[in-house]
Amino acid sequence: MTIKKYQNILNGSGVDSPHSFESKNPATGETLGLVPHSTAEQVAQAVASARAAQPAWAARPDDERKSMVARVADMISENAQDLARWVTREQGKPLGGVGAGEIPGALFEIAACEAWTRVPAGLELPIEVVFEDDTRRDELHRTPYGVVAAIAPWNWPLMIAIWQIIPAIRAGNTVVLKPSEYTSIGTLELARVISAVLPPGVLNTVTGLGAVGSALVENPDVDKIMFTGSTATGIKIAAAAARNLTPSTLELGGNDPAIVLPDADPHAIAMGLFWGAFINMGQTCACAKRVYVHESLHDALVAELKVLVEAMPMGNGMEPSIAMGPIQNAMQFEKVVALVDSARAAGATIVTGGQAPGTAGYFYPLTLVTDIQDGADLVDEEQFGPALPIIKYRDIDLAVASANRLGAGLGASVWSADTGHAMAVAKRIQAGTVWINQHGAVHPMVPFGGVKGSGWGVEFGVDGLKSVTQTRVISLKK
Ligand code: NAD
Repeated sequence: MTIKKYQNILNGSGVDSPHSFESKNPATGETLGLVPHSTAEQVAQAVASARAAQPAWAARPDDERKSMVARVADMISENAQDLARWVTREQGKPLGGVGAGEIPGALFEIAACEAWTRVPAGLELPIEVVFEDDTRRDELHRTPYGVVAAIAPWNWPLMIAIWQIIPAIRAGNTVVLKPSEYTSIGTLELARVISAVLPPGVLNTVTGLGAVGSALVENPDVDKIMFTGSTATGIKIAAAAARNLTPSTLELGGNDPAIVLPDADPHAIAMGLFWGAFINMGQTCACAKRVYVHESLHDALVAELKVLVEAMPMGNGMEPSIAMGPIQNAMQFEKVVALVDSARAAGATIVTGGQAPGTAGYFYPLTLVTDIQDGADLVDEEQFGPALPIIKYRDIDLAVASANRLGAGLGASVWSADTGHAMAVAKRIQAGTVWINQHGAVHPMVPFGGVKGSGWGVEFGVDGLKSVTQTRVISLKK
């Protein structure tokens, strides 16, 4: 049987590379297809294609760009089933659905792609008059940077690519996208669908390992970098960007705390907290990754979560009624195994889960860990997987100090029946977003980004659109 070879998009056409690598299904180990390994020359060609297309794209009337982006949203919607199947087969999350009460899986990811395209299609960045008196008028105009390099991770491979591509294009930039090597085919399929309604050169792709991303960000003709991935890679990208003074938006790792106040109702919050921690098998930047629960509620909350955890069917997400898929890759699987094993060895209680079934695929059960403290690796490191440490606290000041003690500052949540009380605690937490009685609830109109080691800048909404533009002041003497 021949294995299908997928192509990159260069100036509107499909291109092969001399070498390729396999993309595999994490649930079965099956080879899904061959991904081209872009050469250094192809990376340079992709940037040159984006550069050549950019002036004409930026010169189009804004309404034309808006309607083309809206057409992109239509194309995503028309191809939703096929794209969702790619996400399930290549990334692992189950197909799921999009309605209330549905499992948030691959169809949810594609619905998010559509939403995060439709919303920027309707946004404007009008000229602002920042000062005016009898002597002068000062206007702030926003212009595209030019060529945007977008580098995406494997956890929400299509949605995060959309978060990067669409605002950039909407604002008049052109893009070179590099998907993760673990999830390239689905993203290439998305790029193919999108490119059909965009002029050639507006969206180009390159694929391969980190070295391909590195060649892209080091290219001096890149005007802006949009990177989502680990903090370790973010640091390398920031160093590369510094050499060319390339502005960068960095969306990096998180280790989000969830603080449950003593007045919360464990039954009422359990489902929200469950999905806040375990959506996409915990492989989400802004998942709740450590829960601090007041000692008075600890046992009740653990019991509620245990019921939910044990009720979720896990398996190949292409099968109906599956709620949880595999971990996406061997490296991540081994990390979760090591973190849980080290917690167990140090005396923590594994309430449920904690043992891989040993079947094909990177399956690991949803795992709750108690009798664990700050300083344990499972608490202090980003597990990025289905193992949740639950830590008792007595004094809210200490819980807040725990929440703030790590280098990460992406998201956080506070759970309480008293919104005023929750708000007072939320204001003390160092994070880009603090949710109250929900976790990870991103929205296309609401700016999202990290503080401290979780990154630079924000995406989404008007602020996200501004982040792919530069300012030009036009100052008129009267
Ligand atoms: P990763 O850093 O390993 O890889 C991300 C991308 O960077 C891949 O496309 C990879 O090929 C590329 N890359 C690797 N080395 C590079 C280099 N030197 N130069 C340029 N590109 C390079 O991250 P990952 O494992 O794919 O993603 C998981 C991480 O991403 C987690 O830490 C997670 O928290 C984080 N994440 C953050 C957000 C956010 O919005 N803050 C969202 C999703 C994921």
